[in-house]
Amino acid sequence: MRTAYKCRAYPTPDQVELLNRTFGCVRLVWNRTLAERTHRYRAESVRTSYRDTDAALTGWKRSEELGFLSEVSSVPLQQALRHQHTAFRNFFAGRARYPRFKSRTSRQSAHFTRSAFRVREGELTLAKTSDPLRFVWSFDKAVLATLSPTMVVVSRDPDGRWFVTFAVDTSGPAPAAPTTGAIGVDLGLTHFLVTSDGERIANPRHLVRKARNLARYQRRLARCQPGSRNRRKAKGKVARAHRKVRNARRDFLHRTTTRLVRSAQVIAIEDLNIAGMVRNRHLARAISDASWGEFRRQLEYKCDRAGRTLVVIDRWFPSSKTCSTCGQRLAELALSTRHWTCSGCRTRHDRDVNAAKNIIAAGLAVVRGASDDACGADVRRRGSSLPLSATKQEVRAARHSA
Ligand SMILES: [Zn+2]
Repeated sequence: MRTAYKCRAYPTPDQVELLNRTFGCVRLVWNRTLAERTHRYRAESVRTSYRDTDAALTGWKRSEELGFLSEVSSVPLQQALRHQHTAFRNFFAGRARYPRFKSRTSRQSAHFTRSAFRVREGELTLAKTSDPLRFVWSFDKAVLATLSPTMVVVSRDPDGRWFVTFAVDTSGPAPAAPTTGAIGVDLGLTHFLVTSDGERIANPRHLVRKARNLARYQRRLARCQPGSRNRRKAKGKVARAHRKVRNARRDFLHRTTTRLVRSAQVIAIEDLNIAGMVRNRHLARAISDASWGEFRRQLEYKCDRAGRTLVVIDRWFPSSKTCSTCGQRLAELALSTRHWTCSGCRTRHDRDVNAAKNIIAAGLAVVRGASDDACGADVRRRGSSLPLSATKQEVRAARHSA
């Protein structure tokens, strides 16, 4: 398992100069390689291998025009090639969009592997520098001197703040205190989420609340003369406003997911088609704001780490329309209907709590099914989905025992 510790860094003027030069070289290597790759692919329909790009980089370093690439550590440049190669693999596998050029004004970063940094007595020294890089370690439960980082990432945000991230490989998950509970989570827009216990967590709507500031700063930025001092200042304000929204959102998601993982042994959520829903113009802003994708990502790794079972339910499972008491299914349930009474058992339902109860019932069925037919076979906990029909049930059983 990999853990990352991110801290604020305070480089000296000399280090700033070198690191900015490193960022520039990383960007140049990325953009040139991307341009050549794209050209070869379009003109000759030939894919470029990692080895090709590596050979090209060696050539550039020897040339007169690009000889300055040798003045910075070669490791971040190599890493840029590796990252681009991964980006292309993801693109060709249909998992990501086409890699884009890196801009001078966005976040800058450089990756240093073990051969390009040294951590000694809690001090970090990067390749080609003599003095340690100053940073503030703010993790009470971890001591850098006892960790052995495999990678160090130095980055600079658009607002000019510096960071250093230490990536550490740790042995296995630290098991959290075991619990027995099971909880179903229904994600929504009115509430960020509603649990099967009836707890509601309001949607914080960070962007909506802070968007007004952001829009004002952006208007101000648009009025500034290009290249002027005021424009630079206005840009800083826009970057800071963005950062505030981002941090508030991340903080909310971390608090919410940590609490969920602490509260139950089995957690079930619905597999929402986020990309598809964001394409719906009316919902897009609210959904992007609620950041369900990030919510699920955090939940997945925290469940992994704590030894919890996360079950992801098929997105076509009619969780809202089914009565969680007797199982009767409604033909139709309008989005505006918040409460309804089951005609079968006369139970009065809250729309979201009922959905969450169905989600956890389905999740527990998957867990039970998995332990029934697993018999030591590899049971996939995450990403398993609830079958909707008997046929699908057989398919799932087959997959589990395969
Ligand atoms: Zn009923």
